[in-house]
Amino acid sequence: MERLKSVGHIMLSEIKDLAETLSPRLIEIRRHIHANPELSGQEYQTAAYVAGVLSSCGLSVQEAIGKTGVIGHLPGSGEDKRILALRTDMDALPIQERTNLDFSSRKPGVMHACGHDVHTTLGLGAAMVLSRLSQPLPGKVRFLFQPAEEIAQGASWMVQDGVMRDVSAVFGVHVFPSIPASCVGIRYGALTAAADDLEIFIQGESGHGARPHEAIDAIWIASQVVTTLQQAISRTQNPLRPIVLTIGQISGGRAPNVIADQVRMSGTVRSLHPETHANLPQWIENLVTNVCHTYGAKCEVNYRRGVPSVQNDPKLTQILEEASREAWGNDKVQILTEPSLGAEDFSLYLQHAPGSMFRLGVGYDDGFNPPLHHPEFKVNESAIVTGVVTLAYAAYKYWQQPG
Ligand SMILES: [Zn+2]
Ligand SMILES: [Zn+2]
Repeated sequence: MERLKSVGHIMLSEIKDLAETLSPRLIEIRRHIHANPELSGQEYQTAAYVAGVLSSCGLSVQEAIGKTGVIGHLPGSGEDKRILALRTDMDALPIQERTNLDFSSRKPGVMHACGHDVHTTLGLGAAMVLSRLSQPLPGKVRFLFQPAEEIAQGASWMVQDGVMRDVSAVFGVHVFPSIPASCVGIRYGALTAAADDLEIFIQGESGHGARPHEAIDAIWIASQVVTTLQQAISRTQNPLRPIVLTIGQISGGRAPNVIADQVRMSGTVRSLHPETHANLPQWIENLVTNVCHTYGAKCEVNYRRGVPSVQNDPKLTQILEEASREAWGNDKVQILTEPSLGAEDFSLYLQHAPGSMFRLGVGYDDGFNPPLHHPEFKVNESAIVTGVVTLAYAAYKYWQQPG
């Protein structure tokens, strides 16, 4: 045990030294990607750039995986048959950058405002470090560079192309501006919510605005549907398993004095607990149908599954926690007590292998840290070394655990 520990410490200092030495190059890579952002599904230049860097580290590379995704394969010594996947995402957002940085986006209306430029750099940095180790890792690492995370499509494209075949575990990372740079956020259990889409169509009967008894008022019924959904969540669902249902669009009616015969509405449904998530479509459909039928309207409910909740695996989360504590000390590790109701398609990989995603602090200690998806979102670049070391050392520690 003691021997293992000291071997671990030697490995950690080697990883840290490599990452420190590579730091200027990593910052250059990040700035290049930041200045040349590409929207979801159009990451052609980014993918080619990633493939180039991976090849230069001696990894074998597959391009056009998951449409515009890239995989890098690091062989390992072959002692251990398990394959570890490290997933990072590459796409940018349709946002006009307002940071005034020297390396601001060169593309009007497109910006890396969710830090995926940093994620890509972390994946490349981990590949650079792990491929330079004096002792190769016992098993293979598969680096997944995923497109189209922002439209919740890329992970499913990658999985369809077989990237999770034979993978035993997967790690992921997302930057977080409200955590100071140099700190790592670890979360056991649910990290993000399941996010689904809901569309409801209500068919009533038109009539004179003065004679409601001769019509079926689709607008009034729609208002009952919205109210019932919100009330039923609070009165019939377990409050310890939260659901957020937002109807964000509603339309119907043609004139002030004509009773509307049709209403269309759509929304988003977020939940954390897998059982709640599994039951939601049927529960919502029954509720909406009952309300509509009570008042004589017909309805159609289309519930579309989006992405499931990211549920971090306890053992792999522990590896991330221990790797971070050893690398950065207890002060720099935050055990996150709350999940986010945002969504992340990393969860689709978790349907094929256990995994864990951590949050990398990129905030500045003083001053305003705009949130993700904000036109002034900025990253404290000192976090890049932190992220690379955490990923690389967690990868090393993964093979120290019995399979
Ligand atoms: Zn985002
Ligand atoms: Zn993101």
